Amino acid sequence: MAPRDRSGGMLRVAVVGGSMGGLTAALLLRDLGYGVDVFERSPVDLTGFGAGIVAHEASVRYFVGRTTMSLDTMTVPVGRYRLLDGSGALLFEEPVAYRFAAWGSLYRALLAEFGRERYFQGMALAGFSQDERGVDIRFASGKDGRYDLLVLADGIQSTGRRRLFPGVEPVYSGYVAWRGTVAERDLPARVLERIDGTLTYVLVPHSHILVYPIPGADGRVDRGHRLWNFVWYRNVEKGDPLDELMTDCDGFPHPVSLRPGRVQDRYVRELKDLATECLPEEAVAVVAATEHPFIQVVMDVASPRMAVGRVCLLGDAAFAARPHAAAGTAKAAENAWLLAEAIEAFAGDLSSALAAWSDHQTALGANLVARARHIGEGSQFRCDWRPGDPGLRFGLYEPGDSSIWTRSPRSRVVWRRPS
Ligand SMILES: Cc1cc2nc3c(=O)[nH]c(=O)nc-3n(C[C@H](O)[C@H](O)[C@H](O)COP(=O)(O)OP(=O)(O)OC[C@H]3O[C@@H](n4cnc5c(N)ncnc54)[C@H](O)[C@@H]3O)c2cc1C
Repeated sequence: MAPRDRSGGMLRVAVVGGSMGGLTAALLLRDLGYGVDVFERSPVDLTGFGAGIVAHEASVRYFVGRTTMSLDTMTVPVGRYRLLDGSGALLFEEPVAYRFAAWGSLYRALLAEFGRERYFQGMALAGFSQDERGVDIRFASGKDGRYDLLVLADGIQSTGRRRLFPGVEPVYSGYVAWRGTVAERDLPARVLERIDGTLTYVLVPHSHILVYPIPGADGRVDRGHRLWNFVWYRNVEKGDPLDELMTDCDGFPHPVSLRPGRVQDRYVRELKDLATECLPEEAVAVVAATEHPFIQVVMDVASPRMAVGRVCLLGDAAFAARPHAAAGTAKAAENAWLLAEAIEAFAGDLSSALAAWSDHQTALGANLVARARHIGEGSQFRCDWRPGDPGLRFGLYEPGDSSIWTRSPRSRVVWRRPS
């Protein structure tokens, strides 16, 4: 039965942030019978920026379980992991069962499922206050509203987190991720032959790059229509060097990411020159053919907990882990799934559900942030990666659990009332 308030009215949820975490939570809570509104700061759809992600069980669970979409039409499978050194010599290889998705296709599919009627764009959260019965939400546009539950899924720079935990800020890792995609047809055939069907890593001193295939911009997953995605981690000193790099070609600073086409030309030239100097052909070909590489600053965020009263923090807003475990989108989706499961398990008793969910998912977030930090520090600063170390595998709860087609499904959480 749909959850109701004391006068029999439908309970209402506001989700702030209409990206992966927000949309997944919105769909799941609406499926439970809540009246859900999504408020997204961007006035336009979130397109033209995304690249590739590892399709973890959690991030595709909605499509596979509740829609007619299939993994084969959404993802590109990869069966082999290869680790090379800067000269191209093979350091390690093993079979894997990863599937890669395009961020943009997943976002568009989630939005299509949710629909646009209650998806409000150009709505930036400014602040909120809560009492025992509800949450008052205020937007920068001057609009406001009252809801039974507020889900803050507003990303790494979360306004919501700043209101809840003013001291918790993103901490710079000491390096950035250069990213980019190139059409498969633009790669030389001899390179494609070597990288086809693989996730290829190249490890060089104080840096590493990974290269893998993702669906094309139009969603196609067949050969010749896919994209190849690279992620190259490069150390950049905090202060002037980072600030200058993150100043766009029109002179505006960007603390978190620089979109394709916004990076100053000289940095793009420098990147491509350096690729030729220190990477093997498998990686050089992808970097060199990428017209507009873009940059994501690598940061850690860790909140002390994920719920305060009737307000909860989800996805990157709560915990942002470095991308090495490839679990950012999976964690946002998992947060949303378990939030819905906890609310269902506590039969709509929001206060108990949120407290139990926060305990469970705060542990996940803290663990993931620590694991990804350890992996990143190992490549970028300690230079102690051991080829074949199982701890380097992609995974959300544990290394390796992103190989979703080779393991049994996760057992359900048994929810207990927090003491
Ligand atoms: C456009 C875009 C492209 C991305 N592409 C990739 C990719 O290719 N590969 C990858 O691994 N990760 C990508 N990410 C990041 C990835 O989505 C997240 O790391 C992860 O999925 C967690 O998702 P999230 O929903 O918690 O946060 P995010 O995806 O960061 O979403 C947060 C959302 O909140 C909105 N927002 C922020 N502040 C406010 C506010 N005050 N009021 C209302 N809304 C607000 C933002 O506009 C954004 O849409 C991308 C994120 C975005 C926004």
